[in-house]
Amino acid sequence: IYVLGKGLCEIAAMSVQVLAAEMAEVELKDVPIESEPKAVATSATTPTMEPIVKTGDPSPGFLTPNTKMPQASAMKRTDPQQNGGEAFVNRDGTVAEAPRLKKIQFADQKQEFNKRPTKIGRRSLSRSISQSSTDSYGSAASYTDSSDDETSPRDKQQKNSKGNGDFCIKNIKQADFGRREIEIAEQEMPALMALRKRAQGEKPLAGAKVVGCTHITAQTAVLMETLSALGAQCRWAACNIYSTQNEVAAALAEGGFSVFAWKGESEDDFWWCIDRCVNLEGWQPNMILDDGGDLTHWIYKKYPNMFKKIKGIVEESVTGVHRLYQLSKAGKLCVPAMNVNDSVTKQKFDNLYCCRESILDGLKRTTDVMFGGKQVVVCGYGEVGKGCCAALKAMGSIVYVTEIDPICALQACMDGFRLVKLSEVIRQVDIVITCTGNKNVVVREYLDRMKNGCIVCNMGHSNTEIDVASLRTPELTWERVRSQVDHVIWPDGKRIVLLAEGRLLNLSCSTVPTFVLSITATTQALALIELYNAPEGRYKQDVYLLPKKMDEYVASLHLPTFDAHLTELSDEQAKYLGLNKNGPFKPNYYR
Ligand code: NAD
Repeated sequence: IYVLGKGLCEIAAMSVQVLAAEMAEVELKDVPIESEPKAVATSATTPTMEPIVKTGDPSPGFLTPNTKMPQASAMKRTDPQQNGGEAFVNRDGTVAEAPRLKKIQFADQKQEFNKRPTKIGRRSLSRSISQSSTDSYGSAASYTDSSDDETSPRDKQQKNSKGNGDFCIKNIKQADFGRREIEIAEQEMPALMALRKRAQGEKPLAGAKVVGCTHITAQTAVLMETLSALGAQCRWAACNIYSTQNEVAAALAEGGFSVFAWKGESEDDFWWCIDRCVNLEGWQPNMILDDGGDLTHWIYKKYPNMFKKIKGIVEESVTGVHRLYQLSKAGKLCVPAMNVNDSVTKQKFDNLYCCRESILDGLKRTTDVMFGGKQVVVCGYGEVGKGCCAALKAMGSIVYVTEIDPICALQACMDGFRLVKLSEVIRQVDIVITCTGNKNVVVREYLDRMKNGCIVCNMGHSNTEIDVASLRTPELTWERVRSQVDHVIWPDGKRIVLLAEGRLLNLSCSTVPTFVLSITATTQALALIELYNAPEGRYKQDVYLLPKKMDEYVASLHLPTFDAHLTELSDEQAKYLGLNKNGPFKPNYYR
């Protein structure tokens, strides 16, 4: 059962081999396999295969084809609508049918790269293909974007200090500053740095040609430089037209990476950059790292033959994963894909811990509100809600919770929160936060009843939780008071403070902790290594989840940051619990 919990899941298969990581030493080690996987019935809806592993004899080694590596479990969702994302096939065109390498035909989108708006004002906020900008993280800040240079990067001839010009960025002169940003990020990304160190002798990605489409931030730069240290060649574009840190892109270009991205791209620029990444004579990608599915879509649409050489796709976002499941369900996925989004560590850290920190950041930056003594209602007590409530409680706020699910409701009670109906507290609260993933949780009736100065915001995926449209009526006046902050004023003078027009508060108005991104980036790197090195036939044309063992390994790589000392099972204890001493310590369905 997934935390996001909008679909029924069925684990179709899980492989035998598992990764043995010496947790304390944070080293990758091999573990010999004892037997074939044993089917373990976990529930009626989630049958899974539990791997049996033997301890001992871990020989050092990277995740090469011969080493023992946790294999991903294929995941089939019976309800692909789980996150309400856009449909890959339906929305963007049709997919022709054929086995293995299918010829994919999408309803052709007009691509006229010469007609390109260059002024911010003419740039489209929403792209036609996806809304990845709303479902995955990007840095809200780019600190060197004060340049008055209006020339489109596409019209500039730039070269790095070594004479290489295979990139397109805002300004190569910002490279030094970008390098310092990357160095700061490295300090909070210990696992990637550990992988890098580990790679000094081994290159598990030697020969890998990775084409990536993610936010281009200092954290991504650390990932790219790690992939490079592991032996990969990388070409990269941005998955979001606003999130690129120009100085970081410059540092990457100076370091020899082929980066095609700048903050404030037009939609046309966006696709042009992606195309420049993949369309290069004499170079063909064999791995895809995507965030939102746009790059995957582009290759499907324009260069379907490329899939002959592509070994796999690693996808991070809710939307991108949703698209992959749709392709898989339709039998049209050409290569194996790894769903990083649903890894336990990703969900737990992104949803719970990230929101625990960024809710305060988002509120503070937009409103300068003091939290102590404020009455706050949090709608939804899932992972995100739990994070928000914990942070606000710690700051001295009086927190109420609304829930529809009795289990989460009971959790809220046990955690010391008052469980209420929204209607009971709406007149008295100072802040309303939605994090349900649902729609119309805060409707006009409630907005009418709020007190003067009430702050209203959303931490859920989509902007449907607060009925913002209902506030666009003639009797109400909207006043933009800051970027992302609107006062909505009633005829009697009452005003509410609406943040980010009901879109995700933290994504729109604050940044996300680097440490969280480190966890996700490490998972991405390991997924790439696994797919790239997997022997023929290990993975089929399906969407796979990384197994619990891999999650545990990613977590273990982050423990030394805290000087955390993990307890080791004794032989007797391991036998008693029926566990391998090196894990996995929990079943695959554990969340
Ligand atoms: P979740 O499913 O664990 O929690 C949502 C909770 O809301 C559930 O317990 C559900 O019972 C409850 N709920 C549903 N409808 C409700 C209603 N009308 N009133 C009260 N409660 C209701 O999901 P989650 O992991 O907490 O994520 C919540 C949302 O936040 C999702 O849309 C997710 O995509 C998004 N998200 C945001 C961030 C971020 O950084 N802001 C990070 C991760 C996820």
